[in-house]
Amino acid sequence: MSRSNSEVDNAGDVASVESRPADAGNQGVSGYMKDDVAEFVSLRGQAVLNNPRLNKGTAFPDSERRALGLEGLLPPGVAALDMQAQRAYQHIAAKTDPLERYIGLVALQDRNETLFYRVLLDHLEECLPIIYTPTVGLACQRYSHIYRRARGVWICPEHRGRIEKVLANVGTRDIRLIVATDNERILGLGDLGAGGMGIPIGKLALYSTGAGIHPKYTLPISLDVGTDNQELLDDELYLGWRHARLRGKPYDDFIEEFVQAVKRIFPLALLQWEDFKQQNALRLLERYRKRLPSFNDDIQGTAAIGAAALLAGVRATGKPLSQQRMVMLGAGAAGIGISRLIRDTFRRSGAEGNELIGKIGMLDSGGFLHQGRKLSDETKAEFAWPVEMVKAAGMDPNQPLDLLAVVRALKPTVLVGTSGQPGVFTEAVIRAMASHVERPVILPLSNPTSKCEAKPADLIAWTAGRAMVATGSPFDPVEWQGRMIRIGQGNNVLIFPGVGLGVLVSEASRVSDAMFRVAAETLAQHVSDADIAAGTLFPRLRELRAITHKVACAVVRQAREEGVGRPLDDGDIPSAVGAAMWTPNYARLEAAPESATAERS
Ligand code: NAD
Repeated sequence: MSRSNSEVDNAGDVASVESRPADAGNQGVSGYMKDDVAEFVSLRGQAVLNNPRLNKGTAFPDSERRALGLEGLLPPGVAALDMQAQRAYQHIAAKTDPLERYIGLVALQDRNETLFYRVLLDHLEECLPIIYTPTVGLACQRYSHIYRRARGVWICPEHRGRIEKVLANVGTRDIRLIVATDNERILGLGDLGAGGMGIPIGKLALYSTGAGIHPKYTLPISLDVGTDNQELLDDELYLGWRHARLRGKPYDDFIEEFVQAVKRIFPLALLQWEDFKQQNALRLLERYRKRLPSFNDDIQGTAAIGAAALLAGVRATGKPLSQQRMVMLGAGAAGIGISRLIRDTFRRSGAEGNELIGKIGMLDSGGFLHQGRKLSDETKAEFAWPVEMVKAAGMDPNQPLDLLAVVRALKPTVLVGTSGQPGVFTEAVIRAMASHVERPVILPLSNPTSKCEAKPADLIAWTAGRAMVATGSPFDPVEWQGRMIRIGQGNNVLIFPGVGLGVLVSEASRVSDAMFRVAAETLAQHVSDADIAAGTLFPRLRELRAITHKVACAVVRQAREEGVGRPLDDGDIPSAVGAAMWTPNYARLEAAPESATAERS
């Protein structure tokens, strides 16, 4: 156990924190914001209503209206949170344009955080595609045009030499969870400059919804190192740092200063790297994973999703791992991450040597990866087949080997797409796969919807209803010969909130790949027979909280086994995790004593 609460001196007391639990003291990530714990508030009147963390709108009871100077500032009727949530949801649902729904939800988050999270939790399946993929992609593209109010921290090269000071402006040192992006590969949409900030904000909203990590402990960060997106640079409304991207050593030095500043200002924080481009994503993960608790969701979270699909596929098809083979289209951060974890899964099932190599065939934009090709990239070389194996599989290494040729030769049971190229899972490819596999497992994971490698309805039709399909973005069920086939969403949200929560509860000093492996195994076990009968490899998103709890427990156990987390007994883990999960309810507010108000003013 390397991190303790005492490391944060006066945590929560820095600068402009207006409220503290009445029983004071830093209670760790668990045990805060219980209904019976009051918060002392030093703000009064309109300032309370303008603070999204404190604001209850019409739900302020008369006693709090009197105590906090709110009398006359609200209509007299007092509404319960449930009623407010119904009204707020109706407002959102009445909008027909997805981007307007996004703007509506973000406005609610800016007005009243508790209500925002209540609406999200009550309507998870409808709201998730708005605050996350696919609509968040559009919001990121339109960011500078729809911008309303700041959230999170922007750090740009002009802050070099004083990044620590910039982070201290947040006003609290008790941040437990940071999601940071450099905006270069936002979903499958590429370099979106300042607009990428929508992703850390959305991911952290999913953490608070799925894992119940209280929003006050979370911080979205945009490492705005510029953009090479000319359209953005030419846009007069563009809000980002209007320069070409920082590259090379200056970029590395900037990231290094950022990490050091995080360690000093937020010593209890888990840092999630998000939507970095492949080379930086893999490099930064390796460089920093042992220096602070950190992970990259695009690599490791996605890997767990892929591994969970494979394991659920084993159950669904009744074919053991020894009879499974995967073809991966896309050798970027996601493709490499999935392939590494799946290779580990095959290895643990007993495969080794050439047999292990032969379990995974990978393609990048230049075709099949083999040792006869010039591969400058070490991570791709990891999956390149020896030329002799290519020949033995009936392929000619001197010819460009495209997906169709590879599928015909390797006869995969699982086909995964992380290429960001729509339509590349063609009818010919899918029919070739389906001609030798009874239940093909097909995962076109690219996001957003417009980048998906194939439409699920086509996959179902081309395989005569036999394919088990999971996508990255949500899709409607597909009707096939009178049967409704559910399209599972291989959404990382089924993994990262549980991993993050587990790491925080166990106070783990680092995040290991094995934590993602146990997360994948736990998720696959959660897939019910009814899910499989409905044709899907993933559970419904409405089960998110229950899944997250189980995943977090598995991660806490794994951290303990590895000696990097608290030595909690198995029997104590579920309640420790449960206690750390905040449910959006209003805290009781009390006016801070005069002396405290004076001290703060
Ligand atoms: P990346 O840019 O690092 O990698 C893309 C890879 O695709 C590169 O290796 C590139 O060579 C390859 N590629 C491009 N065109 C190709 C083609 N025609 N044939 C074969 N390969 C081709 O991006 P990434 O981080 O790996 O993400 C890729 C996609 O996966 C994105 O759309 C992202 O949204 C999606 N993704 C989905 C999930 C999920 O659903 N759970 C999670 C993470 C990423």
